[in-house]
Amino acid sequence: MSKIQVLDKLTSQSIAAGEVVERPSSVVKELIENSLDAGANRVSVSIRNGGKILIKIVDNGSGMSREDAELAFQDHATSKIRKIDDLNTVSTLGFRGEALPTIAAVSKIKLETRREEDSEGTQIIIEAGEIQSIRSVPSNVGTSIEVRDLFFNTPARFKFLKTDRGETTDITDTVQELALAREDVSFSLESNGKETIHTPGDNKLLSAIYAVFGAKMAKGMTEVLHNQSPNGVSIKGYLGLPEVSRNSRKWQYFFVNGRSIKSAVLQKAAEDAYKSTLMTQKFPSFVIKVELPSNLVDVNVHPRKLEVRFWNNNDIYRAVYHSVQNSLFTALRPASVDLSEEEPVAETETASDERKIYTPEESDLPKHHTRELEDGSVLVEPSRHSREEAAPPKIHFDFAGLGRLSKNDKGEVVSEEVKSYEAAAVEESSVVETSDETAEKREQLALVDNEALNERQLKELDFKNARYAGELFKTYLLFEINDKIIIIDQHAAHEKVLFEQALHEYEANKFINSQMLLEPVSMEISPQEEILIDEHPEFAKRYGFELDSFGPGTILIRSIPAGKELIDPEVALQHLFDDALENGVDNLTNERDRIYYILATSACKAAVKAHDVLSVIEVEELRRQLLSLDNPYHCPHGRPIILEINQKDMEKLFKRIV
Ligand code: ADP
Ligand code: MG
Repeated sequence: MSKIQVLDKLTSQSIAAGEVVERPSSVVKELIENSLDAGANRVSVSIRNGGKILIKIVDNGSGMSREDAELAFQDHATSKIRKIDDLNTVSTLGFRGEALPTIAAVSKIKLETRREEDSEGTQIIIEAGEIQSIRSVPSNVGTSIEVRDLFFNTPARFKFLKTDRGETTDITDTVQELALAREDVSFSLESNGKETIHTPGDNKLLSAIYAVFGAKMAKGMTEVLHNQSPNGVSIKGYLGLPEVSRNSRKWQYFFVNGRSIKSAVLQKAAEDAYKSTLMTQKFPSFVIKVELPSNLVDVNVHPRKLEVRFWNNNDIYRAVYHSVQNSLFTALRPASVDLSEEEPVAETETASDERKIYTPEESDLPKHHTRELEDGSVLVEPSRHSREEAAPPKIHFDFAGLGRLSKNDKGEVVSEEVKSYEAAAVEESSVVETSDETAEKREQLALVDNEALNERQLKELDFKNARYAGELFKTYLLFEINDKIIIIDQHAAHEKVLFEQALHEYEANKFINSQMLLEPVSMEISPQEEILIDEHPEFAKRYGFELDSFGPGTILIRSIPAGKELIDPEVALQHLFDDALENGVDNLTNERDRIYYILATSACKAAVKAHDVLSVIEVEELRRQLLSLDNPYHCPHGRPIILEINQKDMEKLFKRIV
């Protein structure tokens, strides 16, 4: 007998199931994608026990004819492509025709579906891939599919599932991701009878963000300024301001042409743009949607489409970097202190890192309208209006506002960011393009929010012209202008000035200054580390370490990064070696953090301290330097530098006004 055998259908389907449906969340993803491909604008998901007992998806999409419903469960049956060429133009989320047959092979399915033009719906019951019954039933337009007892006939696979809770979390992540991808579709998720997500589908991304991220985070987000770069890359979305940064990257979403993806290029671009606003070890939160001509991107690199390949990484990096930085710096402004006497809202005090799910039971319901849907369920929507009415917290850090401004050659006020982007674009294109085309590009680039810019300009003048009123606690500098007090933390301000200088210096020559140790420190190293030093003699120097070999297996550390003497040089160097050995010297994972940290530490040490008394001339110099920064509002550690107090708030405290 030959050794090679063709597998029977069920076996081959069960193996295939491992690829497409490895767990309940992948079933949910495939089924929701089918609903979206069918044009649904309402998709509701119910699960029981993390989807192990039941996954039910109801949509109001096109539905299927009886004939199609039967075909849908056959291998490689799809309505979405006909021939191989269609793959180049396919715009649906699915097209392989694999999901339904593979899910059906490892579960018990009940499908009910009806098209608008049909008077009756079709019900199909399938168990382990075998059709049990097909009949006509009354049914709503659209499709409802119940998947019960997933992996009941493949116990080995069942064993690999996480706990109910773990699977529920994965399903929640999946639904959240799709809900953020499609703000025009109303999604709901119900787990063991309790609704945990409900997005309105009102075509507003911020509404979906409210439902997914929770009110606290959504309120701390700013919209990406409209931006269209010359190569057809357009970027929209919302960016978390520094106050809502997190300890992990869990709250970072990228969508490229509507699909959720992971991309090292995009992540680096966005995080680099946040560089000076966040404390180290903090990660920004954002939802960034990139649209670009489909010939510049390949999203089918991986069958599950999580990864993406860009035709030109530099272009996409630049577009995202500039767009994020420009929007962010426009939204930043001094922290303002509200001295009014209202009680703080509870919300500002719950600092939870947990992803907050919006449910109708939440205590801050008054800040949202509720709307009843046709199917009787209640929808919670954020309401801008009632947000303003909510009692302000006693002290709140309110960021929105400015960066650097200048006039372009047409006399319009533009931000430096835009200007330099323009300059770069013009410079690059001038060789090949006619001036007409260039002008058109420039116009596209100058799409900035004018109102925000005007506000930025005012703010800048405020501080520029404010009267220096003296120092407080030998730590804070006080300025007065019109109706407010501006308070500057002198140490934080100077630290930031030094930091930016050091950063620019580093960017220019890619070296960190070292300082000699009084006594060299000896350190034992491994053979791999010895090879590393041999092959890349300049590597450690780049990060401020000067080393000498000291016999086999030992080195002497002679110099360390300037300003870093507080830190154990051996430990710091070890981290550097570990990173280099794991990722290669030119590909350090936390290069940015490392440089940032070294520079920030040395700036901190070199800056004037609290209790140093500054002369008026020094204060003026500090003010001048601060005004020249891209982001004068946060020190490198992310703490505020500038604080504002309004005269009105003070007068309220003195009961001069009520
Ligand atoms: P694919 O999505 O790759 O085409 P599937 O196995 O997921 O493959 O689905 C097979 C076919 O069944 C689809 O091409 C579509 O025509 C039909 N179908 C599946 N789900 C739905 C749905 N919710 N509404 C309408 N048609 C559907
Ligand atoms: Mg599909």
